[in-house]
Amino acid sequence: MPISREQAIEIVRRLSQAGPIEELAARLAPKSAAERPFPPDVPRPSDGGATGRDARLEFLRGLGHDLPHLRGAAPAPEPETLQGNIENYIGMAQMPVGLVGPLRINGLHANGDYYVPLATTEGALVASYHRGARLVTRSGGVSTLTTAEQVQRAPGFVFASLPDAGRFAAWAICQFERMKEVAATRTRHGRLEDLQVHIETRTVYLILQYYTGDAAGQNMVTLCTEAVCADLMARTEIQPTHWFVESNMSGDKKATVLSFLHGRGRKVIAEVTLPRERVTRGLHTTPERMCDYWRMSFVGGAQSGSIGVSGHVANGLAALFIACGQDAACVSEASVGITRMEVTAAGDLWVGIDLPNLIVGSVGGGTRMPTARECLRILDCEGTGKGARLAEVAAALVLAGEISIVGALCAGEFARAHADHGRPNPA
Ligand code: NAP
Repeated sequence: MPISREQAIEIVRRLSQAGPIEELAARLAPKSAAERPFPPDVPRPSDGGATGRDARLEFLRGLGHDLPHLRGAAPAPEPETLQGNIENYIGMAQMPVGLVGPLRINGLHANGDYYVPLATTEGALVASYHRGARLVTRSGGVSTLTTAEQVQRAPGFVFASLPDAGRFAAWAICQFERMKEVAATRTRHGRLEDLQVHIETRTVYLILQYYTGDAAGQNMVTLCTEAVCADLMARTEIQPTHWFVESNMSGDKKATVLSFLHGRGRKVIAEVTLPRERVTRGLHTTPERMCDYWRMSFVGGAQSGSIGVSGHVANGLAALFIACGQDAACVSEASVGITRMEVTAAGDLWVGIDLPNLIVGSVGGGTRMPTARECLRILDCEGTGKGARLAEVAAALVLAGEISIVGALCAGEFARAHADHGRPNPA
């Protein structure tokens, strides 16, 4: 994702707020059990009955999470409290939630050991992510770094002629300071940060880029952009024949090539090195075979026209998004990324992931759903100041999931895991 010099300076400014670069390196470094003892595993992971569930609820209660909504003890929300999230309301959908962990994260914003709630109906998914989480934790944890944080809206303006389009574009780019002021009238936490212009025949596309605080920001950028456009239209001498607040050039809810050019949401990079012996004992394969698989899958992904190449990033993200009240449709852009695997000089397995479109929020949208709030609290990702933390948890989680699925494929365990976990018990 190439970025402008100004954007790079802004990212460095935000990173330097966390302290000197030496401290950042120490924060992101793996932490062994000697440095930070490993917390207990999620209890009774293979017990799918009431005893297992109760043991896990008791475990979370011990961590301070009573979870009345998740365990069904609290009444369903009153319809009036759901306004802003649903129309024509008739009831709540059901989705089972499982817990994986601990997941050790050595990140800029997420730093510690996390238990991650996942909502899914795909049998074997939670077991696979749990296995990956334990493995990366015992290897010292996943290092995560949030770099860019940005969400775009891209209004389009159609003119009667090419000269009009050119004149409008030339005028509009000089209005950036005013656009920032107008946007600021619509949000307290958001900020218009950049403007790009694209002209295609008689159409001018303005790509407005916002910082959206701890919110995922799709509504925020729409409301701000509507106000910016109304102000432009009230003042310009070059009127378009028609204009729309979104031209379909923002990448909203789509996997597009913009995913690697702009990024949408938070860009998080993450890595972990698994000691060889953890790969052989924990995954029943070798770093070399994992890399053989990764190379083949990369070429397979290229041939299939995949935008980005990864294993099953969408699985972990969809399950986390649903549990935590994120917009599940945004998995379409959020799951675009690149997973890498390499054998180190010492013969260990290095795994990295680049996710440039993690559009998540710790406030706003569906985060106020009762069960979402409980899940966000388990992650300490609820409310102000936690948006980037949630993005880093998401990146670490999916990295663990990439390792687990490639391990299963390499060890010939993929089909068996789904046969064992992915079909209902006939009883
Ligand atoms: P939102 O709930 O519409 O807006 C976030 C709200 O949280 C704002 O009122 C904001 O106030 C407030 N807020 C409080 N503390 C904040 C903080 N620390 N950081 C940022 N904001 C803070 O949520 P959104 O994230 O903008 O939009 C997400 C929703 O949009 C999802 O439900 C999604 O499904 C939907 N969506 C909308 C569109 C669209 O085009 N409209 C497209 C896709 C998805 P201020 O604004 O005053 O700061």
